[in-house]
Parts: sequence; structure tokens; C-alpha cells
Amino acid sequence: MTKTSDKPVDELVPIFFMGKRYEVPSSLTIQKALEYAGYRHIRGCGCRGGVCGACGTVYRLPDSYRLQVGLACQTVVRPEMHLMILPYYPGNRACFDIEELSGSGDDPARLYPEIFKCIGCNACTMACPMDIDVMHYMAQAIRGDIAGVAETSFDCIMCGLCASRCPAEEVQFNVAILARRLNAKYLVPKAAHLEKRVKQIENGEFEEPLRELMSMPVEKLKKLYEEREIEPQMAGEDWTPRDTRYV
Ligand code: SF4
Ligand code: SF4
Repeated sequence: MTKTSDKPVDELVPIFFMGKRYEVPSSLTIQKALEYAGYRHIRGCGCRGGVCGACGTVYRLPDSYRLQVGLACQTVVRPEMHLMILPYYPGNRACFDIEELSGSGDDPARLYPEIFKCIGCNACTMACPMDIDVMHYMAQAIRGDIAGVAETSFDCIMCGLCASRCPAEEVQFNVAILARRLNAKYLVPKAAHLEKRVKQIENGEFEEPLRELMSMPVEKLKKLYEEREIEPQMAGEDWTPRDTRYV
């Protein structure tokens, strides 16, 4: 996450959004600075916490020819920066029915044959705001290592910034999500606890508790929510979270 500036919030700095000049407090993120300037985000803004990928931004600093990228909700404004938010990156997305795929290592290359055009330049990795080794997972995709791509790309937020810098015009994030879906459907063992839960829902076991929740006063609901057990271990299940980084 980008460190916020130590400068006082009332110091105004000029920025250029879509070519128009605004003076904004120097401590604000790009996202907040644009709101300060009077914009209301309708697209290009989601979680505001760096995990939804909706606010990919391209910017250039003064006296530099370099185009840089970052998330508008995480990148603090810099004096004289020129910027544009890219709420959607129009990358190629293969159309497929997962039931008709096999989960074999050939699937990514069949749906995205352009992966072989990767020149190993690492521009994608350098652009990634999640510090993902994007070039590595593209190499794993070329090798047909579906589980490897799924693991390496696990934190991808689909912002598209890697693709925006790729000289080979790859759509890394779509290759990655294909691999994660194939991995979940064909490679990792079935989650017994999930099947059990679906059966419970189908049998109507949660209808009464749901009715109870819906008729509860808001304050009581809030208390229940705040006191809930996060990621409870299910008794008697042979299951542990696949990834414990957030536990
Ligand atoms: S891999 Fe690409 S799409 Fe995913 S978070 Fe990194 S830059 Fe964004
Ligand atoms: S930016 Fe494109 S060409 Fe360069 S390593 Fe990444 S996927 Fe390969």
C-alpha cells in the first residue's frame, strides 16, 4: 500500500485529470482528490481499499516521458501529475463452457494461443499493484501448469494494468482466472463441507433462522454481526482453508 504524504493536508498541489487542471490537497489519494475536485465516481471506483481492481490508473509525472500505473485508491497525488482512470480494460476474453473443458494443461493455450507470444520482458510484473509475479504465471500457463497459475495469481484483482503494459498484447488476468476456475473445478479435491452445506440449504434447514434474522431489530443484528466467529472451523470436517494468509 502506498504511504500517504507527511505534508499538511491543506497544501494544495496541481494535478491534471483528463487534461484539466485542478488544485487538490497533497495528502489525498487520486480517488479522493478527484472527489475533492467535484467528481462523483460512478465507474472506476469500488472497494476503495485496493482489492477490487476497479480503479486502475495511468499517469505521468512532470519532466518524465514514462507512463506509470497504479490504483487510484492507493496512489497519492503528486504535483503536476497527468492522470486518467481506466475503469475497464478491454482485453480479449475467451468464451468457454467450463463443463466442456478438461482441466488439462492444454486449455489455456487452446483458449489463449497468444500466450506463446510472451517475450519475457517482465513489464507485467512491474505494473502489478498486487506485487504478483505475473511473468511467472504466464510462463506457468505456457507450460500447462494450471495449479501453478492458480496459486501464483491468487491475489489478482483483475485491474488490467499488467495487460496495459504488455508489448505482446497478452490478457494475463483472463488467463489467470481461467486457470483458477479450472483448478477449482478439476484439480483440487471436492470440498465435502460445501456439498454438505448445499444439501442443508436445499433441505430448508436455514429458513427458520433466516426468518428470525429478518425480523430482528437492527441494533441486535449489528451486535450479532460484530460478535460473529470469522471463518469458523467446522467440527468433524476434514477441511482446512487452502490459503491461510488472511486468517
Ligand atoms: S495480475 Fe494484472 S490484473 Fe491482476 S492484479 Fe496484477 S496487474 Fe492487476
Ligand atoms: S508484459 Fe507481456 S510479454 Fe512481457 S513478460 Fe508480461 S506477458 Fe510476457
